This record gives sequence, structure tokens and C-alpha cells, in this order.
Amino acid sequence: MAEPVTEAAETHAGDADARAPVLDVRGLRVLYESRKRKTNPVLAVDGVSFSIHAGEILALVGESGCGKTSIARAVMRLLEPQSGRIVFMGEDITHRTSKQLRKLRSGFQMVFQDPYESLDPRQTVFDLVAEPLQIHRLAREPKERRAAVYSALERAGLRPPAQIAARYPHHLSGGQRQRVAIASAMVLQPSLLVADEPVSMLDVSLRAGILRLMLELREQRDVAYLFITHDLSLAWVVADRIAVVYLGRIVEVGPSEDVIRDPRHPYTKALVSVIPVPEAGAAAEQIVLRGETPSARRIPTGCRFHPRCWRYEALGRPERCVTEDPGLAGKGHQAACHFPVEQEEHAATTTTIDETPEERSG
Ligand code: SF4
Repeated sequence: MAEPVTEAAETHAGDADARAPVLDVRGLRVLYESRKRKTNPVLAVDGVSFSIHAGEILALVGESGCGKTSIARAVMRLLEPQSGRIVFMGEDITHRTSKQLRKLRSGFQMVFQDPYESLDPRQTVFDLVAEPLQIHRLAREPKERRAAVYSALERAGLRPPAQIAARYPHHLSGGQRQRVAIASAMVLQPSLLVADEPVSMLDVSLRAGILRLMLELREQRDVAYLFITHDLSLAWVVADRIAVVYLGRIVEVGPSEDVIRDPRHPYTKALVSVIPVPEAGAAAEQIVLRGETPSARRIPTGCRFHPRCWRYEALGRPERCVTEDPGLAGKGHQAACHFPVEQEEHAATTTTIDETPEERSG
């Protein structure tokens, strides 16, 4: 599929920070080919570019299967991208071998969705948190290692560390397990944490604690986060910037407040319209999208969102939407749409949003 013509093609998506980024991803493409069926490979990620700076949280938001986890796994070099470039702390890591990556890998760590599966049940908490140190041959003296593990557990809110360290994962609650996973990622003092739906498997009561912990670590250590979530309201609470992903592409990106209060892409506007707003009497018109997301084996022509786009219908099905693939356009806040929603149009349809994210998170 041809790359879209875009005024943003040579700029970072929604990036207004002039400092060198911690992570810079350009034109990333990930293709899944079935061994049996060589035809129609799945184009999971189709030309995605973004960057993240120290202390910044970028949320990738989208429905299940939109490609956000493939982006995260490619960034972590857990899968090989078909093309594009991944630059971490100024080093191009796109095609580094595992051996070449070893030195750099301590700088970027991942927290997985499921704290019940991601921790080896046979290891104590101490061993789980100490393992990355062993792999990277750090803190080799027992005293030094113990100090590093206890300090990581304390920072993750697991106290007293000596008692927690002696336990096994099955002794812990879901929230404590996810804290162990975070401690194990943070023990190496990474510059980048990739968090794939880190609270979606946890009870609502435990989520706020984990999110608060992640925000504290950002404050203390200037860690950059790539935060993967299907939940736009959660992204609004947590992230500095939001990138909305649809069928393998970023279709809108910008400062979180701007994306939520002034969504420009019809897909984002539909997602925003169903964010629950607690105050009574909020004048909300929910936009219900038609049909299912098409298969990534058969990306629609032109704008990939057109078969489900309420605005395409409202505008009388403009031909351009079917023939021309829109690229991200705009400065700072960008959308990939030939007919982006204008701010004044929101008044008629948008949910009233009176609270700030801080108020919403409590
Ligand atoms: Fe909808 Fe057309 Fe915009 Fe695509 S380009 S999102 S089909 S209005």
C-alpha cells in the first residue's frame, strides 16, 4: 500500500519538544505472514512514527487488534519490523542482534498486562527482581544486589522489602504482583518503560495505586513511558500525549487535553463521545461506529476508516476519502483526515467535560 502524502511525513508525530528524544520511531511497519498462507499478510503496523522524551508519557490508544501491542513489541525488539527505524537514546536498534542489544537493553524495559502470567511462580520475589541484575551482570556482590533489590521493592511501594522479597508470587495480590513486575523493570534504572495495558487485569480498587506509582517513578527518575491502553479515559488521566491508533496507523496525536477536548479525527471523536462523564446532565451525543474494524489483511482503499466513518456519510461520501490515503497533518496536534472535525462543530455534539484529569483521577 502506498504511503500517504502528508505534511507531517518528515516531522515527529505531535512532537513539539526540541530535545533529543529517548525513543524515536520512524515509518515502522510490522507484517505477519502465515507460514502456510503466503498471500495476504497481516499488516499489523503500517508506517507509524512517534517520539518520546525523558519524563514524558505517550499513550497509544486503540481497540484490540489495532496494532498497538505490535508497536510495543517491535520497540522492545521482541519482533522484527519489516521496515522503519527505531532509535533509542540516539542509537539505531532496529536490526541489532540480541548480543549487540544486551548493553542497551537495560535502558528499556517492559511491564506486561498480566501480572499472573509474567512472573515465574517458582521464583521468590527477591529472585524475580534480582534476575535482570544477573542477566546484565550488575550489582554482582550479594550485599550490593540485596540493596538494589530492596530499594527497587521500596520504590514500588512493597514494604517491608525483606519480608516481601521472601514471598512467592502466589502469596501476593494482583496489585502486589504488578508492583513486583514494575520493581523488576525499574531495578535496572531504565530510561524507557513500555507498559502494555499494565492495569487492565487488575481490580479497579488496585488500579489507582499502580498508576500513582508509575507517575511517581516518572517524577523521581524522569522515566519516559510508552503506555499502551484500549481505554481512552485512562490515557487522558495518565498521559502527556495521546496517539490514537486505528488499523495499524496513528490517526490522531497530540497533547492529551487537546485530543480529548478537541478531537479532530472522526474515529477519535467517536471514542471521546462514549467516555463516561460522571456529572449528571452532561449533554452527550454518543457516536456509535458502524460494523467491525476491517481485517488488517485487507486494508480499505483511501482512508482506511472510511467504511465506518460517520463523517464520510454526513459529508455525502466524498470520493477523496475512498481514493486518497490521508497522512497526519497539523502542528503539535495532528489528525489523518481530509475533513477534520472543526472545534466549533464540537459544541453541538460533544460531551461536556468539566473536570481536569487530576480531578478525575482523585
Ligand atoms: Fe472520514 Fe474521510 Fe476523514 Fe477518513 S478522510 S476519517 S473517511 S472524513
